Amino acid sequence: MQQILDINPNQVPIPLHIRVINRWKTQITDYLKSRTIDQDLCYLFVDKHGSAIEATANPNKEAYLESKLKISSCYKVDKYLVIKSRDYMRVVPHDATLRLGSTATFEPIDDNSIPTYYYNFSTYDMLASRMANPRPLTDYIGRVETVSPPLRRGSKNIIKVKIQDEWKNVIEITFWKQTMFPYEKEKALGQLLAVTATVVTDFQQNLQLESTDATTAVLNPDISELQSYIDKFSQFERSETVGQRKPVLPIAEIKAKYRQDTTQTKYVCKATVIEITPKRKWFYVTCPKCKGKVHLQRAEIPRFVCEDDGHVPNPSFMYCVNTTIKDESDEAKAVFFNEAMEQMLQKSCYDMVVKDGHTDPEIIPTDIYQIRGKTAVLDISMKQDFSMKQDNSMVVNKASLTSAIIPATPDSKTSTKRRTPASPDNETTEKPAKR
Ligand SMILES: [Zn+2]
Repeated sequence: MQQILDINPNQVPIPLHIRVINRWKTQITDYLKSRTIDQDLCYLFVDKHGSAIEATANPNKEAYLESKLKISSCYKVDKYLVIKSRDYMRVVPHDATLRLGSTATFEPIDDNSIPTYYYNFSTYDMLASRMANPRPLTDYIGRVETVSPPLRRGSKNIIKVKIQDEWKNVIEITFWKQTMFPYEKEKALGQLLAVTATVVTDFQQNLQLESTDATTAVLNPDISELQSYIDKFSQFERSETVGQRKPVLPIAEIKAKYRQDTTQTKYVCKATVIEITPKRKWFYVTCPKCKGKVHLQRAEIPRFVCEDDGHVPNPSFMYCVNTTIKDESDEAKAVFFNEAMEQMLQKSCYDMVVKDGHTDPEIIPTDIYQIRGKTAVLDISMKQDFSMKQDNSMVVNKASLTSAIIPATPDSKTSTKRRTPASPDNETTEKPAKR
């Protein structure tokens, strides 16, 4: 029995035992008549050695071929033509494509030794080169971190899914048809997702994947490596933003997005501090050993005590300054945590408390008011406000006072520029605020 691997363009046909694992139509857009035209009816065949080949047919044979070829069934295929594969956006690397005309024959067979899938997963460092022509289509696997609600784009609903790969890169996948990702968010989160036949693009220096007509998305695919992937991912922290640089959004839009999807908590805005909330504690003290809170003990010499570690001779002083921030769109309550506050003031909390002697966390020193009127790009996390009276409040984890211009493009899909891909080591974007 001949293997798919041995098939060459222009050879005479030889019977092949295959399983049909995917079917799709490629379309071209006729911009003059503003409609799409079917270009090819396409199938993906796999043989028992695990090699795959594309088969195409004239779309006018759709009804005929539908009656002959069922997805996931096995056939002996013969009397096809063998043509050269298209150069551009190949689904599989094979140089040959089967052309199925009226003479082609299909004989159903039973063969459990033929796999039910074909994956050719890329590694992260292969992705950047795949943005260039001839743009081979890319299979990828990772764990689902976030799933967007259906987003309206033109006349269709799309879905955006973020996955974390085994090198801890977070990559966004845009499914340009809602039906391509047919899973409920709750069922998909935390599961392994294998996508096929995507194109690699980039947006703000982040590599991303976009679906094509040939794309499939399978949760926990039935592959032999599944368990080893699951084991690997079980050690990874869940993350929405590892390795991602987020766009700067107006406060009003952040609030709206968060109302729509409360699992998406990390955002970036550019805002001005307009008010320091009075009568709120402006710092707290933690135990460097366990990061837990320490308490003041009014002994002969006042000291800090951790409930687990006892006397803490060198406690950590951490800012937590309650503010109101504002941009052109809206206002919000925002708590500046230690790192963000240090960046705003250029002064450590330790200096403020110990060196300057502002030891009462209830009395806000005048120095703190220096941040009023300052504008900065803020890395924020949204926090559910259970009092329900207030707006959702924000936690500011990082602030950058630089006047660097950061494009405020809220969405992707536009950028076609080549850039250096985001390096996988920029994993420091979020630091959960310890309290
Ligand atoms: Zn402690």
